[in-house]
Amino acid sequence: MKSHIKLTALTVCLLWLMTLTGCGQETPQQRSFQAMDTLMQLTVYGEERTASAIQNQIATLDERLSATGSGSDIYRLNRDGSAVPDELTAKALRQSLEYCQDTGGALDISVYPLVCEWGFISGDHHIPSQDALKRLLQKTDYRKVLLRGNTVSLPKGVQIDLGATAKGFAADEARAILQKDSCRSAILNLGGTVLAHGSKPDGSKWRVGIADPDNSADYMGYVECADKIVATSGNYERYFTGSDGKRYCHIIDPKTGFPADNGVVSVSVVSDSGVQSDSLSTALFVMGRDKAMDYWQQHRGFDMIILTDDKQAFVTQNLARCFQLKNEQYHTNTIK
Ligand code: AMP
Ligand code: MG
Repeated sequence: MKSHIKLTALTVCLLWLMTLTGCGQETPQQRSFQAMDTLMQLTVYGEERTASAIQNQIATLDERLSATGSGSDIYRLNRDGSAVPDELTAKALRQSLEYCQDTGGALDISVYPLVCEWGFISGDHHIPSQDALKRLLQKTDYRKVLLRGNTVSLPKGVQIDLGATAKGFAADEARAILQKDSCRSAILNLGGTVLAHGSKPDGSKWRVGIADPDNSADYMGYVECADKIVATSGNYERYFTGSDGKRYCHIIDPKTGFPADNGVVSVSVVSDSGVQSDSLSTALFVMGRDKAMDYWQQHRGFDMIILTDDKQAFVTQNLARCFQLKNEQYHTNTIK
């Protein structure tokens, strides 16, 4: 079985550079470092201490929220079945659970044992047996995660992972630091979740690239925005090709236990909230195009771009005005 994990470092780098064009003469504070299993790039038009505070906060979040780091709150919770995590972890957990509920379980933080079974954590990728899937599906239900006050408990066999929401949560935390320090211009690329804070120093909007699923080192179009968070979930980010020739990606449909496979190749969500963008990009990917559109019709309050495997780009109406297509193989459709 051929295994293939594409980390998005190159894409992140390219899209990040793109956002910097035309920023004027002001020298920014720039940082580039690994955290949350990905590359983080900060460009802050402000003071050094602001960039340092953001980097430190992301490192703290990484330590607390990682499912694999043996010192983390989440690791201890998964190991012991209960924990009293610190306030930051409890907040991230609470917000993630709200989106699990809100998306009818398309986002489900208890999908972690399934993610492990498919080999996405160990790297030993394989298609699980029917028995294993059946057994693990019985343990997959975010409603079994009990958060009372700051105490979290899990029934035996239930384990959680905030991988689908942590980068968005980190973006919200970073924005709070930027606001506290009165910084009005910053662009942070947290492994593909982009915080476009304020506008460019010259007052124009940021350009955030949307990765091209066929060549994730390039972008297929870009969004012009200010004060937004853009998160993307795609089937090209981490996947393996099975002996049946099919692509199995890292985003699991909690109802079937299988990687989502519904014709959607990526979902980008643009909103005012990092947790919302990150949660919804994952959940809408699982839902597929039609259900994602229904969700948007019912909820609004955010924008999205859905790319499908027949080279269609579905863009919500407000975003259509600030979305610029680059790869002309795509055909753009407006969602009203
Ligand atoms: P993202 O890249 O934000 O879409 O998050 C994907 C990551 O979240 C995966 O690598 C898994 O660790 C985890 N995950 C996979 N499927 C789900 C799901 N349906 N709900 C919540 N987390 C998931
Ligand atoms: Mg996500």
